[in-house]
Amino acid sequence: MRPDPIQRIDTAFFWEACARGEFVAQKCEPCNKLWHPPRPMCPDCHSLEKSVATLSGNAKVLSWVRQVRPASYGFQESPIVILVELEEGLRMVSNWIGETLPQIGDDVKVEFAPTSGGKAVPVFKKVSA
Ligand SMILES: [Zn+2]
Repeated sequence: MRPDPIQRIDTAFFWEACARGEFVAQKCEPCNKLWHPPRPMCPDCHSLEKSVATLSGNAKVLSWVRQVRPASYGFQESPIVILVELEEGLRMVSNWIGETLPQIGDDVKVEFAPTSGGKAVPVFKKVSA
């Protein structure tokens, strides 16, 4: 089973949302920009005024890679690492789940994979046509 995510003060809201099955990102109040990964300050206007926005979980595969090395800790075999572009315009590195290999441009949807300590991490699965 996957190891728990490492939580810090700035990322706790994200991992707590994942554990509830909610997919979120930070949103700048003054300029409305969304950003990920979590950080204290808007990367555009440097404001500290932020809120948490719910994301659709819909995305497209931009790239992917299969690691050629022994499986990472907690995995039977190394996961397929994907780069997705979310419907809201953010990019995220995550893992692919599914029987087939991903294709660039595949429509995917977020799901939450449980971790060994009872938390969850976002992963992406192909949307069936
Ligand atoms: Zn801003």
